[in-house]
Amino acid sequence: MPGLFDYLPLAAEGSPVPQPGMRVQVSFGPRVRVGMIVALAQESDQEPERLKPILALLDPQPLLGADDLELILWAADYYRQPPGEALFSALPARLRRAEPPLAPVEPGQPGWRLTAAGRDQAPGTRAPRQAEIQHLLGDHPQGLGEAGLRSRLGEVKTPLRALAARGWIEPCQLLGEEPVKTPESGPELNPRQTEAIAAVSAALDRFQPFLLEGVTGSGKTEVYIRLLLRVLEAGGQALLLVPEIGLTPQLRRRLARRFPGRLAILHSALNATERERAWQAAASGAADLVLGTRSAVFVPLPRLRLILVDEEHDLSFKQQEGFRYSARDLAVRRAQRAGCPLVMGSATPSLESLRNAATGRYRRLELPERAGAAAPPAIGLLDIRAQPLRGGLSAVLIRLMREQFDAGNQVLLFLNRRGFSPVLTCHACGWVGDCPHCDARLTLHLADNRLWCHHCGLTRPIPLACPQCGGLDIRALGQGTERLAGELQALFPDIRVARVDRDSTRRKGELDRLLAAALAGDYPLLVGTQMLAKGHHFPRVTLVGILDADNGLYGSDFRAAERMAQLVIQVAGRAGRAERPGRVVLQTHHPDHPLLQTLRRQGYPAFAAAALRERREAGLPPFTHQALLRVEANAREASLGWLRLAREAASQLGGPRISLFGPVPAPMERRAGRYRAQLLVQARERPELQAFLALWVPQLYGIKGQGAARWSLDVDPQEMY
Ligand code: ADP
Ligand code: ZN
Ligand code: ZN
Repeated sequence: MPGLFDYLPLAAEGSPVPQPGMRVQVSFGPRVRVGMIVALAQESDQEPERLKPILALLDPQPLLGADDLELILWAADYYRQPPGEALFSALPARLRRAEPPLAPVEPGQPGWRLTAAGRDQAPGTRAPRQAEIQHLLGDHPQGLGEAGLRSRLGEVKTPLRALAARGWIEPCQLLGEEPVKTPESGPELNPRQTEAIAAVSAALDRFQPFLLEGVTGSGKTEVYIRLLLRVLEAGGQALLLVPEIGLTPQLRRRLARRFPGRLAILHSALNATERERAWQAAASGAADLVLGTRSAVFVPLPRLRLILVDEEHDLSFKQQEGFRYSARDLAVRRAQRAGCPLVMGSATPSLESLRNAATGRYRRLELPERAGAAAPPAIGLLDIRAQPLRGGLSAVLIRLMREQFDAGNQVLLFLNRRGFSPVLTCHACGWVGDCPHCDARLTLHLADNRLWCHHCGLTRPIPLACPQCGGLDIRALGQGTERLAGELQALFPDIRVARVDRDSTRRKGELDRLLAAALAGDYPLLVGTQMLAKGHHFPRVTLVGILDADNGLYGSDFRAAERMAQLVIQVAGRAGRAERPGRVVLQTHHPDHPLLQTLRRQGYPAFAAAALRERREAGLPPFTHQALLRVEANAREASLGWLRLAREAASQLGGPRISLFGPVPAPMERRAGRYRAQLLVQARERPELQAFLALWVPQLYGIKGQGAARWSLDVDPQEMY
């Protein structure tokens, strides 16, 4: 395998025996670097005198077992990434450097954790330190020591005492014997849930992928929980992958209540030490259940018996830089290696997974109805052609909103663009605020009174006068969530508006607070980006308005329509989750668009079937398989020129039957001052694509480029930018 290097064992007498899965220090060229042993060999292709000894063994025990190593190396091979990069991105951050693993925590050290009452309690705003402790403990179902709390928050004695006095936290023992607590029990299952659980339970001793297709609110999570209970009772470990943990405090709390003391959470909001502890707890077998985002697919789990992938269609399972892997696809491979079932759940499955279900590779399980009493929302299209709009809202939508407010209900408005407005323009000369480094407009953010480029992060003050003509009439055009929230406040002065997007939730804990307050009914009107579309339950929401669905109808990416449909259904799923029926209104300039019509009249499955037919006819994934070679350089000619050489190298290979498209400039050609271009590789069958890449990629390393050209390869790309 390319990217692997041979070394001699440690020179010194009586040194520990190297084993696969241990990290080492070795000299590599002029530098000393950290590497990992992947295999012990008896011979080498290298000249004996050129072989160097390992300088140091960094781990007393292997960090990764044979199964873990094999999965990661398989992934490196499949995605054509250097094995070292794959191995090290699978490790907790500290262990990527030459640091020793953390010493195990002495079991039984005293700590604090939330009580059931504390978990249900929305952290107050009046005692910020207490609220911070609540958030931290919420992320650490196994509890945190006082030292751990102090290292992050400073002195915590007083707020801890106050929280304990309220009965919101309680002392516990860290990672030791958890006092056995009675987990909360769930609702009585409906027949479809029972059926799904029975099907998976019958396959617990073998590899079998399932696609759990259940409309939002149909009780998929309840199915996961029952399956997890079963696996954990039998002494197994389970992995639950979710797109973004930060967005699902409700799921975190629900799992903590149902699996007290057995859950390890792996996510980006943890600091390095905490991540490593959670990773250790999984690898040592101390934690039975791991809830994590995409990189958790690599976490060692010696007794793994079940993998769940929630919202399997979500783009965030695909890493878009560095080691570009799909955690969902690797989960299938991992389940296969572990000989256990895998359940991928979604209300809006990806076309890839639907195709796998159609061919019988995945078994399909359906939950066609909402659990409990909730009725599905009706989706209506609102033709806004030539309609006067106020704040982007048509008069009809404004009237519908008012009706809901008057009835004491909640309304959710969805606009997938944050900020105040996409463009600042001069009314006199038409100047617009472009980013000097990207083919993109600057976005106006009023909160910090600046213009931002969402692509390279450039920021500048808002000009007082037009940079081009000096005119003073500078206006904001178009709309983002920030502007929308402001205009809504003017339209409905008596209504409290909550805005949920990346900007408004930057402060730690703010998202939890907003969601809890929204749930409690403090905000009759919720405005947000796709953050609001993911997994939350708002039982009081009876009307959902989608303001910019048209973007998805005419996007440049062939997946744009699929994404739009998923978003519409997911957003719609936020409405009417309990006894109050919901209604969804989609404002559009294209009410007759066939995909919108299919989606509205017949729902997502019919839409997906139509989209799959189109893909088949166009010869696009999932009926073909792709890899995208991307290059960026200091000049357009340099990036295109590099790709032409790559294409030439491909044509000389002969062999596997593949098609090449390009090179072409990327849809956003200029970003952060660099020129981007791409070349698409497509094959009818996956093995053909893999065979081609195996020959082609090694050649790419030899292509000398101009203009500091840098390339990267994306196998099974999800986005074509
Ligand atoms: P999903 O994950 O499909 O969105 P959930 O499992 O979160 O659905 O269920 C949605 C809501 O319905 C939750 O409040 C859950 O407690 C409730 N629920 C789930 N299953 C049942 C059931 N069998 N009977 C009554 N309520 C249920
Ligand atoms: Zn001007
Ligand atoms: Zn920029």
